[in-house]
Amino acid sequence: MTHKTRWAELFPDEFLERQTQKSIIYLPLGICEPHGHISTFGLDTFKADYLCDESARRFGGIVAPTLAYQIHEAGYHAPWLAEVLGEQPALMTGMPPHVMLHFFLYQLRSFHNAGFNTAIIISGHSGGNQHDFRLAAKLFGEVSDMKIWVFADPELVADFYEGDHAGQYEISQSLYLRPDTIDLSKVNRMYESGSLGRFAQGEDALEASAEKGKDIIEKSLAFIEQLILKNHTEEKQARKILSYEVVEMVFEKLRERRSEWVTLQKYDFQNPTPEDSQWKEFETVKV
Ligand SMILES: [Zn+2]
Repeated sequence: MTHKTRWAELFPDEFLERQTQKSIIYLPLGICEPHGHISTFGLDTFKADYLCDESARRFGGIVAPTLAYQIHEAGYHAPWLAEVLGEQPALMTGMPPHVMLHFFLYQLRSFHNAGFNTAIIISGHSGGNQHDFRLAAKLFGEVSDMKIWVFADPELVADFYEGDHAGQYEISQSLYLRPDTIDLSKVNRMYESGSLGRFAQGEDALEASAEKGKDIIEKSLAFIEQLILKNHTEEKQARKILSYEVVEMVFEKLRERRSEWVTLQKYDFQNPTPEDSQWKEFETVKV
């Protein structure tokens, strides 16, 4: 069997061979967003890519094209951005929740129509958006027999580590996976005039290490392996192509439950976004 795992890289016979062996599709969800001066923008994307690629390599299955745009700004993101970024430009590939979730349902449709039994979605961007993707996946499950699992990467290691933003947790992962995207010598750049300020850099970034990163990544992969062993089945189901109409119906149900969307609310522990902040209007987004 081919060692290639990316859908985009496979010939039709290779695709069917990999899928017959293990009917699992992985979807990496990333984003370009500020991770301080010490990191390039794609940290969340690199994590998600690696976890999906390596899972497919070790446990079987196929990796869907990465989606490197993610929900940002809305709800709890707004006061957070006001705090860690202030009035600087965010330079990020953020999307509104309803656009992402609508599109996500169509991504699931494409996986369903391609005949996969299990879809595993790994988001490198965490903080709460994963709950909304899970709600979307649950409602999609009412029209599809495909099993869908959504995780933000810190959830894979919740028994061992606490996730963070561009702090020791995330920077450790990068030092292990993509050391070329980290430059710790820039750790004090935020205090210099003419810089973008803190730019969402974590306070304990200097405690990061590649060894810690390797442990986080290996424990994450062990979690995914157990998930597959416990839940994935190869029983073949006859599949009918899902119409657009059905997906629109699922989205409508999801929209009706928007009061439950985590990405439309700030958390109780957060202070409201200051009135004069550029992020204020995103705290309450109309969907
Ligand atoms: Zn991140």
